[in-house]
Amino acid sequence: MSLEEQRGALERAAILLRRARYGVALTGAGISTPSGIPDFRSDEGLWRQVDPMEVASLWGFRLNPERFYRWIRPMIRTLVEAKPNPAHYALAEMEREGWIKVVITQNIDRLHQKAGSTHVLEVHGSIETMTCQGCGHRESSEPYLRPEVLEQLDLPRCPHCGGVLKPDVVLFGEALPWATWRAAEEAVQQADVLLVAGSSLEVYPVADLPYQAARNGAKVILVNLASTPFDPYAEVLIRGDVAEVLPVLVEMARGFPGASDSV
Ligand code: NAD
Repeated sequence: MSLEEQRGALERAAILLRRARYGVALTGAGISTPSGIPDFRSDEGLWRQVDPMEVASLWGFRLNPERFYRWIRPMIRTLVEAKPNPAHYALAEMEREGWIKVVITQNIDRLHQKAGSTHVLEVHGSIETMTCQGCGHRESSEPYLRPEVLEQLDLPRCPHCGGVLKPDVVLFGEALPWATWRAAEEAVQQADVLLVAGSSLEVYPVADLPYQAARNGAKVILVNLASTPFDPYAEVLIRGDVAEVLPVLVEMARGFPGASDSV
């Protein structure tokens, strides 16, 4: 369905955002596909090429870190060089306008921060730092994840003990960063509007957040290309490309009165 045909849904979403007392956004890999980073579950997605449980799980990493780095190496250049797209900028704009207070993201790519969002909760970690699997030493990944460096290294190694360095991204079988997850749940508890953009809502526990929000009475706006298990429960469902939809929502919301404006 075209965006023109979904005009009613777009307007309802824009009004909800404009009038939100505590708006929260939840994003997934789909918000970064317009920046050239493939998602996991679409037809072109990364899971079509490998068995995720073998390669991108904590036990898979521990058993065979070389295989993990062989898999992730071609992606690193894409991740490091990617630029924010209009969807990231629209969310940063919504934060500046005060319509959303927090972005909870499953993405590890730092594109929300690059676009200007200041309150970002990275519940699956990020590629910003790495931790030694031997001694726990943690440092910036910048010297190791530069594509030209990575292409020449077998494995990034700890400068202190020689152990293998792992990017601080949450792999299958690994716990979420506790404080960040707690903050995300608290934000969702406070939310009266939750905008979910570009997520299949298949990865738990994050996929539970829209249900938590709805149970607390929040209105959930869902923007995605494909259907998700949460579709029947969304207050507003918009089927479309986030890079087109989110800027439209910003423009429309500007045209509506806010909660504190006199009408
Ligand atoms: P997912 O791959 O499971 O789902 C992505 C969803 O986005 C799909 O339903 C797809 O239809 C939709 N989509 C793709 N492009 C879109 C667009 N332009 N507009 C609207 N919708 C679009 O991703 P997920 O739900 O985030 O969960 C998978 C895991 O993937 C997360 O844990 C995340 O850490 C990881 N991941 C992150 C990145 C990244 O950092 N950019 C990339 C790939 C995977």
